Amino acid sequence: MFDAFGIAAPGAAPEGSDGPEGADGADGGGWDASLSRNTAYLTHPVFHTHRSETQMLRYLRRLSERDYALDRGMIPLGSCTMKLNATTEMEAITWPEFADLHPFAPTNQTEGIRALIGQLGDWLTEITGYDAVSLQPNAGSQGELAGLLAIHAYHEARGEGHRRVCLIPASAHGTNAASAVMAGLKVVVVKTAAGGDIDMDDLRAKVEAHGPELAAIMVTYPSTHGVFEETITDLCALVHDAGGQVYVDGANLNALVGLAQPGRFGADVSHLNLHKTFCIPHGGGGPGVGPVAVRSHLAPYLPNHPLAPECGPSTGVGPVSAAPYGSASVLPISWAYIRLMGGAGLTRATQVAILNANYIAARLREHFPVLYAGASGLVAHECILDLRGITAETGVTVDDVAKRLVDYGFHAPTMSFPVAGTLMVEPTESEDLGELDRFIAAMISIRDEINAVRDGVITAEASPLRSAPHTAYALTGEWDRAYDRTTAVFPPGVDPTDKYWPPVARIDGAYGDRHLVCSCPAPEAFED
Ligand SMILES: *Cc1c(COP(=O)(O)O)cnc(C)c1O
Repeated sequence: MFDAFGIAAPGAAPEGSDGPEGADGADGGGWDASLSRNTAYLTHPVFHTHRSETQMLRYLRRLSERDYALDRGMIPLGSCTMKLNATTEMEAITWPEFADLHPFAPTNQTEGIRALIGQLGDWLTEITGYDAVSLQPNAGSQGELAGLLAIHAYHEARGEGHRRVCLIPASAHGTNAASAVMAGLKVVVVKTAAGGDIDMDDLRAKVEAHGPELAAIMVTYPSTHGVFEETITDLCALVHDAGGQVYVDGANLNALVGLAQPGRFGADVSHLNLHKTFCIPHGGGGPGVGPVAVRSHLAPYLPNHPLAPECGPSTGVGPVSAAPYGSASVLPISWAYIRLMGGAGLTRATQVAILNANYIAARLREHFPVLYAGASGLVAHECILDLRGITAETGVTVDDVAKRLVDYGFHAPTMSFPVAGTLMVEPTESEDLGELDRFIAAMISIRDEINAVRDGVITAEASPLRSAPHTAYALTGEWDRAYDRTTAVFPPGVDPTDKYWPPVARIDGAYGDRHLVCSCPAPEAFED
């Protein structure tokens, strides 16, 4: 083993040490015996239950049967951009040349992946209109931190390191404020106007109040309300005139690619989410990529890495992630997506994403109020369905609607973000008209069920909405509900042969959030 590092073995292992199995063989590890592990590992039964390929196959199938994923139907999670992760795009990441590359492999062994990273970076700067990009951040939130560190370093280099105020609209994603605090900035919240846009009067007042202290504003465009705010260029000018920098949260880039470039309409820096707009699968905690893209004046302050001088500017702010190129092994997915789509294809994807969201908004508007729209009456790539009036009138909540959608064979939309008591729907360009119509029909049918509560036919508590979702097990034994079994599990539009059966009924989400509930063996099981 020591040969691999070009050093000599440091003598025999101390008494009692058996060193790591395999690689070292008999010559031991050469470390103190107290450092050697003596306890068993991988003791959970799951590591010992599936011993043949057949068993393993069936175990994985069983898990996927319980899951509701994009291979089953639409996941209309607003802000999350749950679009197709095409098989062709995914294939290359299984190749050992990408999958088995060590993050610190010598540069003469990583020319291929670095060429791919270089090309992908060039395409991303072209798409966004920025001048430079770093692919090091492992998540959108890490891109935010990197971007804000660049802004701070820029101010510092100009002798204005005292600029520490970061303006953030009330509707912002939670990561924005968290990143600002991590970057050592002070968060000042900008109000939302009645129409859902940033309150420009409040913004003017806050810019004036904090002028010499103003470091940056972080805005999302199109906004987290799913609207192209017409004031975006004025906003950029206002903040620039006061000496601040403009951070545009690029998580909603699926509404911009090919149509508008943040680097050209006034922003200084953005992060992108390759695991949203650029097809890397996400939602299960898999690796993300949140590139940070900047205009030229911020380029010297992009992340770099002490062990990989070639990965960033020597004047950079240091690493934001452990590996020089972050989640490099999944980059072939985004590379393939852009390469396969081409410029015209990417633009078309954006147009269809916006069209799909507007189709849903237009068809559902008379059943559920659409909270915000631009001056033209149109939304961007997602829309917010406002249930607050319905909840006040009938007692039926967003939870009830979200869970009832499972009975209809859908994943719920985003709940209560960015506005509590609402559902945010983002269909993406990947959904065809048939699937959009299936979703719309389910929502209209749910609206009929809500109307039955409103009209006193059934109470909210006794309705199928409150008990949703319904498992197969719930159908067995005594049936004492106020609705029949067919209504429970085969509501209108659900094909009995293609039914998605949820594995669990309604859970208490708030309780679960506050109490760690572990399905592993109890801790006592691990006692000696
Ligand atoms: C998803 C998202 C983020 C954060 O991205 P992560 O990769 O989850 O850290 C930030 N802002 C907005 C608007 C988002 O939708």
